[in-house]
Amino acid sequence: MNNDADPSPLTGRSHAAAQDAADPLAVIRDRFLLPDVIYLDGNSLGALPAGVPDAVADVVRRQWGTDLIRSWGANAWWKAPVRVGDSVGRLVGAAPGQVVVGDSTSVNLFKAMVSAVRLRPGRTSLVIDPDSFPTDLYIADSVARLLGLTVRRVRPRDLDAALDDDVAAVVLNHVDYRTGELFDAPSLTAATQRIGALSIWDLCHSAGVLPVELDAWDVDLAVGCGYKYLNGGPGAPAYLYVNHRHRPHLDQPLTGWHGHVRPFAMDDPYEPAETIDRARVGTPPILSLLALEAALHVYDGVTMEQVRAKSLSLTGLAIDLADAHLSAYGIDVVTPRSEQRRGGHVALRHPQAAALTQALDKRGVIGDFRTPNVIRLGFHPLYVRHIDVHDAVQTLHDILTSGQHWSQR
Ligand SMILES: *Cc1c(COP(=O)(O)O)cnc(C)c1O
Repeated sequence: MNNDADPSPLTGRSHAAAQDAADPLAVIRDRFLLPDVIYLDGNSLGALPAGVPDAVADVVRRQWGTDLIRSWGANAWWKAPVRVGDSVGRLVGAAPGQVVVGDSTSVNLFKAMVSAVRLRPGRTSLVIDPDSFPTDLYIADSVARLLGLTVRRVRPRDLDAALDDDVAAVVLNHVDYRTGELFDAPSLTAATQRIGALSIWDLCHSAGVLPVELDAWDVDLAVGCGYKYLNGGPGAPAYLYVNHRHRPHLDQPLTGWHGHVRPFAMDDPYEPAETIDRARVGTPPILSLLALEAALHVYDGVTMEQVRAKSLSLTGLAIDLADAHLSAYGIDVVTPRSEQRRGGHVALRHPQAAALTQALDKRGVIGDFRTPNVIRLGFHPLYVRHIDVHDAVQTLHDILTSGQHWSQR
């Protein structure tokens, strides 16, 4: 970091401003409606894209209000889960026809895990990282009880030693939701497949902020949510990716009528669609689904390489500033410094992280606290600027040096 020659207490603001002036994605910020705060929580709830309010108003007033039930065909509601799935697919390296949007991430994890086990009959173990987002662990435990499996909790670095031919599937988070560590998906996928197991990736903290290449990495199944970096809004539906080579055999457990090959024939018994529609369950939340579709347009004309370059620049700046100005006050950077191992957010450890996060919030810097001692700051490259990173660290520095508002427990 070059921080000489700047008179402000925390040096380098002019340098940050220069980085913004040279940023090819700076103009994309205008595609969002942002209040007057520094928003560093887009990895939890993405900001509002400017095109979404009108799109949702049209869905409500014209499509629902006027076209009524005809909208399933006339406004292509029926095809929305796969159509929006293809839009998500473009961001995660999936060719069309492999992604369905609908349900929550938790429900899609259930569908993915049971499907994977059914694709590997006779194998009785599921492997999962104990540091996964809790919902992944809870669902894995329930799937294991349901199907009579054993769950092996294994850190990604220990995966090779833990794998054998009893393992049906390996479930991993691409980026650790707490620390921000990015895992090597291509090599972990390859290791999983060497012993004949299926790889299931949870992309909640990577899709939309760094390049994901599901087809190129030959991932088996993947899930992710719509409301974090993808900006789909509160409760936006999640997605499920099924590699095309598994589609003909995919036997997902929630056999609702939207997954039927002829849903309107009202046939019994169930017969799955040949297309990716077989990953659907029931009627999707159309308002949220179409809000997500409108939100995804903020990525129009933007490459994931540009997004990643900006993301690394923002997280790199945050780490440099924290090292230079906050370490003296007991703040440790938890997130890996190596760019190869760093996702889109930065985790700062401090014994009073919860109180500090609240103090930041009071001063207009919104991040979040993750138990037990982490301040988690997410930097969405489409709307966060380098000066925001600088000002956020400056604010945290001011709080730590003033020592008043946060020290009472
Ligand atoms: C946010 C998140 C989820 C959320 O699951 P929902 O069922 O959509 O609430 C799941 N997994 C990971 C890794 C997450 O970060």
